[in-house]
Amino acid sequence: MGTPLPNTKHLLSEIEVQYVKGVGPRRSEALRAIGVATAMDLLYYFPRRYLDRTRIYKIRDAEAAVLMTDEVTFVGRIKSIRLVRSGRGRNMMFIRLADESGTMRCVWFNAVQYFASAFKEGELIAFSGKVTAYQDQPCLIHPDYDHLEDEGDEAFLHTGGIIPVYSTTEALRRVGLDSRGFRRLIKGLLSNLGHYEFPQDPFPREILSVNSLMRLYDAIEKIHFPKDEKELGHSLRRFKFEELFYLQLLLAIRRNLIRHSPGPALNEPGALVERFGKEVIPFKLTEAQRKVLHEIVADLKSGHPMYRLLQGDVGSGKTIIALIAILLSVENGYQAAFMAPTEILASQHYATLSRYLSPLGIVTSLLIGGQKKKSRTEVYSDIESGRTSVVVGTHAIIQEKVKFNKLGLIVVDEQHRFGVMQRMALQEKAGVSHVEPHILVMTATPIPRTLSLTVYGDLDVSVIDEMPVGRKKIRTALRGESSRDRLYKFIREQVLSGRQAFIVYPLVNETEKSDLKAATQSFIRLRDEVFRGFKVGLIHGQMTDTEKNDIMLAFKKNAVNILVSTTVIEVGIDVPNATVMVVEHADRFGLSQLHQLRGRIGRGVHQSYCILMTEDKFLDEEKIQTSDEATANRRLRIFASTSDGFKIAEHDLMLRGPGEFFGTKQSGAPPLRLANLIKDRDVITQARHAAFKLAEADPHLRDKEHERIREVLMRNYKDSFEFLKAN
Ligand code: ADP
Ligand code: MG
Repeated sequence: MGTPLPNTKHLLSEIEVQYVKGVGPRRSEALRAIGVATAMDLLYYFPRRYLDRTRIYKIRDAEAAVLMTDEVTFVGRIKSIRLVRSGRGRNMMFIRLADESGTMRCVWFNAVQYFASAFKEGELIAFSGKVTAYQDQPCLIHPDYDHLEDEGDEAFLHTGGIIPVYSTTEALRRVGLDSRGFRRLIKGLLSNLGHYEFPQDPFPREILSVNSLMRLYDAIEKIHFPKDEKELGHSLRRFKFEELFYLQLLLAIRRNLIRHSPGPALNEPGALVERFGKEVIPFKLTEAQRKVLHEIVADLKSGHPMYRLLQGDVGSGKTIIALIAILLSVENGYQAAFMAPTEILASQHYATLSRYLSPLGIVTSLLIGGQKKKSRTEVYSDIESGRTSVVVGTHAIIQEKVKFNKLGLIVVDEQHRFGVMQRMALQEKAGVSHVEPHILVMTATPIPRTLSLTVYGDLDVSVIDEMPVGRKKIRTALRGESSRDRLYKFIREQVLSGRQAFIVYPLVNETEKSDLKAATQSFIRLRDEVFRGFKVGLIHGQMTDTEKNDIMLAFKKNAVNILVSTTVIEVGIDVPNATVMVVEHADRFGLSQLHQLRGRIGRGVHQSYCILMTEDKFLDEEKIQTSDEATANRRLRIFASTSDGFKIAEHDLMLRGPGEFFGTKQSGAPPLRLANLIKDRDVITQARHAAFKLAEADPHLRDKEHERIREVLMRNYKDSFEFLKAN
């Protein structure tokens, strides 16, 4: 491709970045490495943050900023640069920054000569970071920096403007693309658009005006060079809306599609379900359980696939509801699959389900990763032939080798991390039978509304908001090392009166050997010394399935009184006789994790106790030093003060942010760059409304006016979107 001729208009998204004025081959290589391939991509390379005159500190105020936890920015000129050789052949670098109010030091503990040469004495620069006291002086350690231009930027700052700051890499800086380089490049492109055709805004006028969105061109310009905060906010809102809109549209289209495709139409509950209710369940369903059952049965009868989320706090009795739905499928000649997040939980569910189902003559099979090949092959063929009616297992169930004879229902247990993308994959895999199966996702993790709208926005929701009667409130206590002897005495008393206890050690990552060693050593000490004469068991993730199952079975039968464990028992485990949950190093656990652990007790008629063990310093706020410790302390206090799963989840989300709440990328958190699921509640609601309205009016996006929306959607969600192309 040659340089575009000036008299033909070329679409920006078709101009390779190397032909943008000021780029050239060397820079284009570095740009491509960060995913910027076209001129349009360059315009979509948004600032990482902004320098705003109103947010810039004077050096004379640095002292006061030492106490702040936020980052602050100082703008000034470099007065001196010094490289000093320190111990072990390292270089320390000191830069002294001066503004009209004073001077301050910036320190790098390990700087190479090359790095030092990035700075020049006398240059105008912005340093950002947390102010720390170093050798009794306020100082910035390893701050972020941005070179500023004497003309332009400085003038900008003085007029109260906002300067965009871009992320760069070493490779980009080598070709002059630091923040300043990007500013020049993008500014140049924007003021030189005459030769190029700017892409048409994907949003039709109505969406723009109803939601008061900036037009694409303006928004692009303003996100790079806003005049003030207000303009910046307005343009940011447009892009946040965009992100959320496409995600919601994806959900809306999916929802429509499912609602209109044929599903297994089941009949009213018949003899089997009735017998089960009368003869097999040892209790009466709660009012809340009956209500959600009613909703589920209505879906199953509708002739379209059910797609429902069943929310209910730990211990609210979701399993039995799933079981009834399974029975209904089987009664109508369909198979059912029950998926659990861990092998232990799958095994436990398998035990529960087959206990209930085999008296009714229903064949249940277990399918987990660690199984022997022979038994697995057998299970496969039983599923394919239809001999097996109910399959319980882990993700192994959706492996390619599994072929169902006539799959009617999939239950997914305890997987708040089972996001949109995973569910799409599941439905695709499950599409081996003639019609799309019903799907019921169950979770004990209450999901704040803004999140559920995004992550579960395509599902109907049922809530069990009532606990079975007779449950006693769990007592929760926070204890330090000094209470350890009393704790052990208490556990002995509980066991002597017939109850059982869990003692959990942190081992968040099952491959961390040192943690595992600590748990194992504690186990030996507890078994041989502290609880001599009692039966103490150990369970952890590195054991084989058989070992894990044996020990769980023994605990369930009270052949083990005290179970020492890592977090493998975190979700779903159901042993109603266990009344004590001790969490060691509780400060190392997340809120939702603690909530799940506490949910392992209080499941029977006896009073239960959750004891969080931690270092004494967490009991005395005065002794807390770092901000991590402060966060841990807040977690522990929130947890001890409430048993409301919903409150706990909201705090969790606040403390950790949605990314971590849902685990990492592949865990189902939607890919959002700008929008914040907690703060941008209003934008979420608007985007959802607009997207659902569009999907209603034009379900296949065939309208000429929606062509660009369709294009963007397919581009953004390429992988999960085969079906859109097919339609
Ligand atoms: P979760 O919602 O946490 O998955 P489970 O389904 O494991 O809860 O149920 C917790 C315990 O409560 C189980 O032992 C179950 O048998 C029991 N249970 C469920 N429903 C009721 C009810 N209506 N009355 C009494 N006990 C119940
Ligand atoms: Mg459960």
